[in-house]
Amino acid sequence: MTHPKIGFIGLGNMGAPMAANLAKAGMTVTGFDPAGTTAKGVAAANSGPEAVHDADVVLTMLPDGEILRAVAQELLPQMKPGALFLDCSTVDVQSTRDVARQAASHGLNFVDAPVSGGVGGAAAGTLTFMAGGSEAAFAAAQPLFDIMGQKAVHCGAAGAGQAAKICNNMILGATMIATCEAFALADKLGLDRQKMFDVVSTSSGYSWSMNAYCPAPGVGPQSPADNGYKPGFAAELMLKDLRLSQQAAEAVNADTPMGARALELYRQFVEDEGGRGQDFSAMLPRFADRDRR
Ligand code: NAD
Repeated sequence: MTHPKIGFIGLGNMGAPMAANLAKAGMTVTGFDPAGTTAKGVAAANSGPEAVHDADVVLTMLPDGEILRAVAQELLPQMKPGALFLDCSTVDVQSTRDVARQAASHGLNFVDAPVSGGVGGAAAGTLTFMAGGSEAAFAAAQPLFDIMGQKAVHCGAAGAGQAAKICNNMILGATMIATCEAFALADKLGLDRQKMFDVVSTSSGYSWSMNAYCPAPGVGPQSPADNGYKPGFAAELMLKDLRLSQQAAEAVNADTPMGARALELYRQFVEDEGGRGQDFSAMLPRFADRDRR
């Protein structure tokens, strides 16, 4: 498959630039989105079936598992036998596994490959893919990963990509909160934020949240904190991923109390405290402006 035909379903904030990058690399891409969105270099189809019927790879970039299930139910029967269904959305593990089974029953290959890197990474073609599926299916997806991203990790069978993504983001949510509350405590103790960064970023409290994405404005590398907390990675997207991680934890009876607390704090922040539309690191002003109740 040197020049696979791509059917691209879901041309939103992430999907449109990903599809445009595939087209720019010389692939024949036909796209569909019910919202009527389009992408540069991508032929617009009038329906999902029209976009996928002769595609070698159908790539989906959708909001959630329920929509993925509906799209799969409609499109899997329309696909060419032996084609690859490549879902790059972030969805619950169970929906992924169910869709993978349905794909197999239609004689299709399946890979789940949620991404990290955000809209900037999608536009620049520097996403990281966390993939689940058979060796053969992963190998078929690799040329697309090479165009849209800088790294793809084959994590295991179908669903393993989603599992890796929600575990990573559960750590990220909890460490961002820990970093922000520590800055707020440091403020109250009269410790300068720059000094706090200098110590922690080179001590055992370091993390990606502190070192690469410091939530304190004017401290550490450039981050959304230096841009009025404009996302970046929006708080409501972190909330979505924490919900998925807790849903998964409940399903397999895993004890994840920090993940549960992070979920509750981001839920409060997004739904009750005006955090929607702000970067997820805006937890720092949220903590800094509060006293213990
Ligand atoms: P988005 O809402 O901008 O795009 C989703 C698109 O899916 C929309 O254009 C919508 O019209 C389309 N859609 C809805 N129902 C559909 C259907 N039945 N058939 C076809 N298309 C349909 O969302 P996004 O930011 O592009 O995110 C897409 C996925 O990527 C999500 O699962 C998200 O969690 C994940 N993700 C997003 C980011 C980010 O920074 N935005 C980062 C990593 C992962």
